[in-house]
This record gives sequence, structure tokens and C-alpha cells, in this order.
Amino acid sequence: MRGLKPARNQVAQALFRPTRFIHLNNVVKLLKVSADTKNLTLGKSIHSHLLVINQTSFESSIHPLNSLINVYVKCNQIPTAQKVFARMPDRNLVSWCSLMAGYLQTGFSLEVLKLFKNMILVDGLKPNEYVIAVVFSACSDSGKALEGRQCHGYVVKSGLVFHQYVKNALINMYSKFLDVEGAMRVFSLVPGYDVYSYNSVLRGLLQQGFLNEAVQVLDRMMGDGVKWDSVTYVTVFGLCACLKDLNLGLQVHCRIMKRYLELDVFVNSAIINMYGKCGEVFNARKAFDGLKGRNVVVWTGIMAAYFQNGCFEEALNLFSEMKIDDISPNEFTFAVMLNSTAGLSALRHGDVLYGEIVKLGFMDHVIVGNALVNMYAKCGNIGAASEVFSDMIYRDCISWNVMICGYSHHGLGKEAMAVFHDMLAVGECPNYVTFVGVLSACSHLGLVKEGLYYLNQFMKTVGVEPGLEHYTCVVGLLSKAGLLDEAEKFLRSIPVKCDVVAWRTLLSACQVHRNYGFGRRIAEFVLEMDPNDVGTYTLLSNIYAKAKRWDGVVKIRKLMRERNIKKEPGVSWIEIRNVTHVFVSDDCQHPESIQIYEKVKELLARIKPLGYIPDVAGVLHDVEEEQKEDYLSYHSEKLAIAYGLMHAPSEAPIRVFKNLRMCEDCHSAMKLISKLTNKIIIVRDANRFHSFRNGCCSCSDYW
Ligand SMILES: [Zn+2]
Ligand SMILES: [Zn+2]
Repeated sequence: MRGLKPARNQVAQALFRPTRFIHLNNVVKLLKVSADTKNLTLGKSIHSHLLVINQTSFESSIHPLNSLINVYVKCNQIPTAQKVFARMPDRNLVSWCSLMAGYLQTGFSLEVLKLFKNMILVDGLKPNEYVIAVVFSACSDSGKALEGRQCHGYVVKSGLVFHQYVKNALINMYSKFLDVEGAMRVFSLVPGYDVYSYNSVLRGLLQQGFLNEAVQVLDRMMGDGVKWDSVTYVTVFGLCACLKDLNLGLQVHCRIMKRYLELDVFVNSAIINMYGKCGEVFNARKAFDGLKGRNVVVWTGIMAAYFQNGCFEEALNLFSEMKIDDISPNEFTFAVMLNSTAGLSALRHGDVLYGEIVKLGFMDHVIVGNALVNMYAKCGNIGAASEVFSDMIYRDCISWNVMICGYSHHGLGKEAMAVFHDMLAVGECPNYVTFVGVLSACSHLGLVKEGLYYLNQFMKTVGVEPGLEHYTCVVGLLSKAGLLDEAEKFLRSIPVKCDVVAWRTLLSACQVHRNYGFGRRIAEFVLEMDPNDVGTYTLLSNIYAKAKRWDGVVKIRKLMRERNIKKEPGVSWIEIRNVTHVFVSDDCQHPESIQIYEKVKELLARIKPLGYIPDVAGVLHDVEEEQKEDYLSYHSEKLAIAYGLMHAPSEAPIRVFKNLRMCEDCHSAMKLISKLTNKIIIVRDANRFHSFRNGCCSCSDYW
């Protein structure tokens, strides 16, 4: 009798005096105690006692035997419970229900459904609300939608549907099946649900993006006067975040404050996330600052809020503060940090984070690996991106997409396609984003036929509906191949609403292919669509200049003045030893600007013998030729490159980032500078990466 507490010890000793008669009622009470306390030893002793006094084979023993099954179920001894059940001379609903609940708890939901069938067929019993609730849960756990719906029919006919248990189980089941219509039907036919049902329906709707339905359910929940719990708050804040509905979010936040509720860390994170998604970083920060116990989840939440709103530096600063607070980062923290680093194109910072990730052992997290690949690709180091990708042990769809799109963005079409074929070979399913990368790779490679095949056939086969991004890629593909008429026809025929970007792709192709008449027509059309699109004015002005139509240039400039459209100044930046240096065209703000201008002059003088002819066609026509050269000389990327050549370590490639599209003059200068200095120069402009090496660019002069 070791292991029993003293009081029970006496009970058990009393039991084992075989001469002593114990009333069955007391046996049932004792069994209840052992079930409630999960005391298997006591349960087994009583079981032995029942066997000794031969109380297991009469019809009258149904009650104690049911209790015994319950003990074994509660103590996770399902096979023993099953044995007791099988040897029962007679069984009632409770016997069946107890055993079914046991199988459900231990994850054998198919066994539950089998028992349910036998209960009706063998014992001829009619289920009650408890049995039905167990059956619905089993259907949802095992994904048996058909059986679930049949039972739904039964409970409606039998009237069991009005029981609270049944309703909740039914709603839960439809939510788990992702059957929104089913859940909403149950909801609208039967009134009165508890907070758990509301939570599970709201969560289901939210997960599947049925946001309007979720709002309807929320309305009903308010009408029913159900008391919210913290799960409700988390879910509703999540809903506000998805809807980007700040008003609703504020109302819910007020509701919490009015009720002076203790907020747990999940609710707090949900509040921070909601404000972040609604673009209210300030409010998110206020909620964060008001917290007492901050754990890694809320820290990561506030960093993510900053990141989503483009405040990358603030996100990175918070990371240092978090460390001062002695909170260790997790995989999500690192993902947010890497994405912020990518946003700043701060490669050195990314390297430091990489080191930290390896040291702390976070490399095996897919989310971290994906963010690393993305960071390296965005920071211009596609080689490092590819290394991280090859070393990843686990990959998901995002990993493949990041690598494919990274290669495409760098103009490495062949590599992108190779990764895409590997992806198909390992059986990963391509999605919307994958095909944006694939189609843009086709465009780099000039694979018109293949591109159209992917768009018109392959995407259908794998069930991806083409969207604007795909159509825009195809426009790029056709126009790069010089099929300008086809590209225009294609643009006019696509089934989705076109934006300016798609048309501008065609427009810049007109410039590259020197088809100025066509270009003018397209530009005028784009300006009708969006009279404020600066990029189009610039392209059109360049087209006029190249065709030596100076009247046209003047007209465009006048138009821009009249419509108060300002050309965004060209800005380039370069990171050297953790410091980012920013250059604006023709600007002398940098402390070393005299030396930088000297360096530019020297470089341009040295590449002239290699064939550099300043491309003055695009510059204002009413200045002297010599002055035109001056205007070109000090474009921001030239300043940044000169500075890089002065200060960057000799081996490393020079990486420059620019906000606008590179002009043709800078492009040809960069090619020759890479040859002159024998260096790799990487420039990311508004469109893509250019990798200059030994006098050539990875874009093959098309961008
Ligand atoms: Zn330039
Ligand atoms: Zn290029």
C-alpha cells in the first residue's frame, strides 16, 4: 500500500478485509475520488476489490463499472478501460461516452467514430448531447467532414442542436474544417453561444481571411453580451490589424481600459501589432512603454511595428535596448532585424547579425534562413545569399521564392531558373511570388516563348491566378525583345486593372530601343492616367532630347512647372566601415567633397581614352557643351563610387544604392571605371542591381 496517503490507506485497508461488505454507492464515490485525483493505484485497488467480491458480472454493476472506466480514462490507461468495457455484461450511454472521451483525449479520433457506429448498431442506443459533442470533436480532429455533416443533420432532426455542448462542438468543427459557410449557418440558425465558440469562429474566419464575416460575428457577440476573455481580445485586435481599421482598434483598446483588465503578454503584443499594422507607430510605442514586464514577444512586436512602417533604424536601435534589458532574442527577433537591415541595405550590419545568429544557434530556423537570404540579396551580395540558401537544412516555399527573386533582381536569369527547376524537383509547390521571379528571369534571358508558356499554361496547371505583377513582367519580357506593338496589345488585353508601372516598363523600352514616336504616344497616355508621375516626365523628356526635339523638352519642363511636379533629387549612398555616406547630385555637403570632386574628374579623364564619351543628349539643351559634361559628372552615384574607391578596402566590391534609375551616362562610365580599376562595382538603382565587372554590366545594357 505504499504510495497512498494515510487517509486513503485506511480506506484501502478497510476494503481489503474481504469479510467486510462495502456498499456499492461508496465504491462509486471512491472511484470518483480516484478519477478526480488521477490516483491510479487507488483505482486499481477498488477494481481488485470488485473482482474479489464478484461484482463485475451482474447487470446491477453497470454504475460502478462506468466509474471504473472513467478512472482508467482519466489516468490515460485506455487499453485497460477498453478491457473493462468489453467485459461488461450490460452497457449504457455513459459507458460508451466515457470510453469515447478517452479515445478522443489520446488522439484516437477514428476509434471514437467506430465506437459511435457500434453503439448505435450493436447496442441500439440513441446518442445524447454529450456523446454527440465528443463525436463532433472526433470528426474535426480526424478531418472527417462528411461524417461531421451527417451528424449535423442528425442533431438538427433530433433537436440536440439546442444543447450548449453540441452547439459549441459543431461551431468548432466547422471552424476547423475551414468551412465558413457551415459555421455561419450554425450561427444564424441557433442562438446563444459562449465565449469559446465565438473565439473559435472568429479565429477561423480570421485565419482564412473572411474579415467581413468576422466583423458580423463580432457584432453579434456584442449583441449577445458575452463576456470577453483574453483570447477574444487577441483575436479582435488581430482582426483590426488585418482590416487596418484603426477606429475599431481604438474602440477595443478603450473597452479594455474602461474595464481595468489585467493584460497578459499576448494581449499586449496584439495591441502593439494592431497599432503597427494601422500605421500608428507612436501609439504602438506608447503601449509598449506602458508595459511593466516586457518579454521577447513584445520587444519583437514593437520592432516589427517600426519595421512595417519603414522605420528601420529605430527597429535596429530597439534591438540594442532589448539587450541592455537582458532579454535574449528569438528567431522572430532576428528575422525582423535582418529585414530592417535589408531595408537599409546595411550589409556590414547584416554580417554582424549573421555572426550572432550562428553563435546563438538560430541558423536552423527557416524564418531566420529566409531573412538572411533576403538580406544578402537586397544588400547586393547575391553570392552570400546563395551560400546561406545552399546551407539551409529546412526550406519552405518562401526560401525558394526569396532565392529565385533575389537572382532575378540581380539580373541572373539562368541562376533563377535553375533554382526554380530545383524547387519543382523537390516537390515544393510554386505560388504567386514564385512566378513573379520566374517571369522576370525569363525577361532577363529573353525567353519570350517560355515566359508566355508559364503565364498561359503552367500557372493554370498549378492553380496560380496571374496578377498585375505577372502581367507587368510579361510586358517587360515582350518589350525587351523589341516586340513593342505586341507589348502594347498585351497591356490593353489583360483582365486586371493596369497601373502606371506596367506602362512605364513599356515606355522605358521605347527609350532603349530608340523608338521615340511610339514612346511619345505611350507617355502621353500614361500622363493621362496619372498626371503626377514624375518618372514618366523624366522618360519623356529624355526621349525628346535624344530625338533632338528641344521644343518637346521645353514643353515637358513647362508642363512640370505648371503642374508643380518636382523631380526627386538623385540620392546615392555607400556604406564604409559601418558608416553610411549619402550623396546628392551636385552637392558639396560631404566634408571631403573637394577631394571627391577631384577624384571624379580624375576617373572620367582616365576612362576617356578607354572610349568614354559623355552622353550629353539627355541634359538641358540650352547650356554649352562643356557645361553639359559638368552636369553629368556629378551625378550622385559617380560621387559615391569615387568616395568608395578612395576609402573602401581594396579587395571588396563597391556597393552603391541609388533611389532613381541610373542614367545612361553613369552606366557607361561605371562600366569603364570597373575596367580601369579592376574592381567589381555593384549599383542598385530603382529598377534592379547592376554588377559592373571588367567593362561590362550584368544587365547587358538593358534596364
Ligand atoms: Zn547619371
Ligand atoms: Zn547595368
